[in-house]
Amino acid sequence: MIWRRLASSRFALWAILGVITCLVAVAVGRSSFILGLDQLQQRGRADLALAADRLSAQLQRYQELSVLLASHPQIENRSLGASQSVRSVLLRAADKTAALNIMLMTPKGRILDAAFAITDLPKSAQPSVARAGQGALGKGFGTDYGDNQRAYYFVAPVILPERGVVALLAIFVDIDRLEGDWRGDRPAIYFLDDQSRVFISNRSELLGARLHSAAGDLPYDNHVANGVDYWRLDWGPYVPKSALPVFKDLPTIGLRAGALIDVAPVRVLALWQAGFAGVLAAMFSVLVIWAVERRRHLAILNAQLEARVRDRTQDLQTANAQLKKAQADLVQAGKLSALGQLSAGLSHELNQPLMAIEQFAQNAQTFLHKGQADAADGNLKRISDLALRMGRIIKNLRAFARNEAEPSSKVDLLRIIDQALDLTQSRLTRDGVTVDYTPPPDAVYVRGGEVRLAQVMVNLFSNAADAMQDMPLKSLEIAVETSAGTATITVQDTGPGIKDPDRIFDPFYSTKDAVPDQAGSVSHDPGMGLGLSISYGLVQSFGGKIRGFNIQTGAAFTVELPLWPIPPSAQ
Ligand code: ADP
Repeated sequence: MIWRRLASSRFALWAILGVITCLVAVAVGRSSFILGLDQLQQRGRADLALAADRLSAQLQRYQELSVLLASHPQIENRSLGASQSVRSVLLRAADKTAALNIMLMTPKGRILDAAFAITDLPKSAQPSVARAGQGALGKGFGTDYGDNQRAYYFVAPVILPERGVVALLAIFVDIDRLEGDWRGDRPAIYFLDDQSRVFISNRSELLGARLHSAAGDLPYDNHVANGVDYWRLDWGPYVPKSALPVFKDLPTIGLRAGALIDVAPVRVLALWQAGFAGVLAAMFSVLVIWAVERRRHLAILNAQLEARVRDRTQDLQTANAQLKKAQADLVQAGKLSALGQLSAGLSHELNQPLMAIEQFAQNAQTFLHKGQADAADGNLKRISDLALRMGRIIKNLRAFARNEAEPSSKVDLLRIIDQALDLTQSRLTRDGVTVDYTPPPDAVYVRGGEVRLAQVMVNLFSNAADAMQDMPLKSLEIAVETSAGTATITVQDTGPGIKDPDRIFDPFYSTKDAVPDQAGSVSHDPGMGLGLSISYGLVQSFGGKIRGFNIQTGAAFTVELPLWPIPPSAQ
């Protein structure tokens, strides 16, 4: 289901990006084409203006020549009726200027002299001749010169003071020759007459054709791109298939100039740019898809990782709970082990007062029989003391064996040390250990658990006794000091010192083997290596610290515990 959805969302993404890529390519191509057309139009106008100027300038030369020749002295003379022909003058001028013909006529248009022989004046020149006959400069063009040749003509009047127009000088410009200079040039240029017929062009296939009218000889399809017209046409191999038409009216020479600017380069450029933009967009799309895929992949990996972390956390929590349980079991096991060690000494300790009680009781009986009530009373008092002592030992033992799980609270440190000494008294006495302990005058209250703290102390005292087993001097020194919110209990012995102080708090680290005494029985059990590691955990749980180190005389242990805060009102 998810895969299906993933696959379809992936397909949708591909489709969207594909569409965007196409749109980008089309938009870039189109705008590039429109921009290109605009620039092309401007360039085309400039090219056309240049071509029109060139033609105008060329024609202008002939116009000026006609006016100049009209005031030539020989021509003026001939105009006044001199019989000497001016043909040689006209011929020289025609040769030098490559004119089609130059001729002198009467004001009515009868030919007097001509550079090249001509029978009739072309019909199209008649209006210009008539105009010149009235004293103005006549100009015009036609395709009926001689053998239907194209010619542009200027007819200048020969005007003499007080005589008026005495003759006309006409110059026929050879359009074929003018065209020859720029035939085949780019762009395709043409000049139209007032009938929209191509009169001059640098593309010979256009000559004589009618353009720009519904009934034109050359058909074209008009297209508009962003307000710019361009034509699709098929007018021959040398005329562009799609062209931008530009025009310019040339009233001075009576023609309208037009140019066909090839649109193909703009289209090719637009296609290239569209292609380039398309490739870029496609690359971008691929990049987007790659990023999306990568994100998706990372999200999957992340989810997997989270699941693994969750599983691992669960495992750790379970392991932690198991560890806590094992620790609690170990605490209990350690206590039972200490209890085992104590039981031997305790039975001896309890046995002694029991025997003494028996003895005192018998004696008391005897004293009572003898009527010595005072002596009997003394014995009963001693029996009572012994019973009290036995009760105390048993009470401590019971408390010690109980599994204490209450939170830390205010405990009397000195009472706990007394309890621990009580519990180990028989052992210490049996081994001949002297205890050097002077409790401070005032009670010291610390944060802890009564039974657990007693367990720590019993462990330290028992370890000291174990260490001093074979030493000639057996002295256990206990000191309690308080400073800056901390109570420090120091337990020192005169044993051989700690073998490896760095490892003593490791669980199951023990250097104690079972040691047989002289009588062959075992004097103490092999160590479990748990006493100090359990003590370490307990002291830490009270917010304190336990340390073990060697001193000159043997080993020393310090237990630091936070003092129970004294309420401000009691200060
Ligand atoms: P156990 O008493 O069962 O060996 P403990 O954790 O109480 O376990 O003690 C670990 C070890 O620390 C002992 O085996 C001993 O090597 C060393 N140790 C503890 N107390 C003393 C001491 N007072 N003097 C020398 N070594 C000691």
